[in-house]
Amino acid sequence: MKGVGCERGLVQCQDGTVTSESKATSGNSPINGDSSPQPSSSPQPSSSLQRSSELTRFRLAPNPGPMSLDGTNSYVIGAPGSPYVAVVDPGPDDEEHLAVLASAGVVDVVLITHRHADHTEASARFHQITGAPVRAALLEHCHGGEPLMGGEVLTAGGVEIRVVATPGHTSDSLCFHLPHDGPTGSVLTGDTILGRGTTVLDFPDGRLGDYLSSLDKLEAMGPATLLPAHGPVLPALDEKCREYRDHREQRLDQIRAALNSLGQDASIPAVTDAVYPDVDPSVRWAAETSVAAQLDYLRS
Ligand SMILES: [Zn+2]
Repeated sequence: MKGVGCERGLVQCQDGTVTSESKATSGNSPINGDSSPQPSSSPQPSSSLQRSSELTRFRLAPNPGPMSLDGTNSYVIGAPGSPYVAVVDPGPDDEEHLAVLASAGVVDVVLITHRHADHTEASARFHQITGAPVRAALLEHCHGGEPLMGGEVLTAGGVEIRVVATPGHTSDSLCFHLPHDGPTGSVLTGDTILGRGTTVLDFPDGRLGDYLSSLDKLEAMGPATLLPAHGPVLPALDEKCREYRDHREQRLDQIRAALNSLGQDASIPAVTDAVYPDVDPSVRWAAETSVAAQLDYLRS
């Protein structure tokens, strides 16, 4: 995990989406979770779409990286027998990937979970290929379509899709709830909840207070199938939300303990040194960003 391919900082970094802090609860490095070599059984992009739930299929985009895990999962939503589909997060600008997505059916809308480049890089090109409107929370990520609003309910691909505003990873993060997808429904969670590891907050745009509220909102959806933008599909969204909240609480306890010994006005680098003493220099920025987000939460 070298330099995470990001010279421009978190905001524009296509890899600046994801880290795995889960191992750090038993160790010292906050962001080492994905630094180990990928197992040889690591998922590879396939020439066709894979089934992920009754109403969804996906293709793994060819953009693996230390922060994007195996790559971005681009989803296709469509009711059985419907000639129409909705596509969520076309992902990186890769012609083969886009061709597979475009061949899934008549694309009637493209939905974007959030602004990061590993989700949006291909938006303009995919709009050009399919003619379908691309809709995101932010106007600058829309192409031929209106911005999405939290609470909006749309029908696309013959499927009811509920737009849920879930700020925290970024301020524009959305999830897409499919209440009729199997007995429990499903939720496309973008980077708000991942199939593996935990989510980095893109502070200061992404805020911990917002993120904790978003976890509450998602937990209330019950044991829905979790369709993440990175990592494997998981059952029981509500359980995962509780796990994520526990993890955040453990992290906050560590920060509180550091402040108690260093003084309440300790600097971000000092707290980072205390909480992550062995962090690899190449990912120090991610550790400091995480600390900054937590200090902001505790101090506001
Ligand atoms: Zn992201």
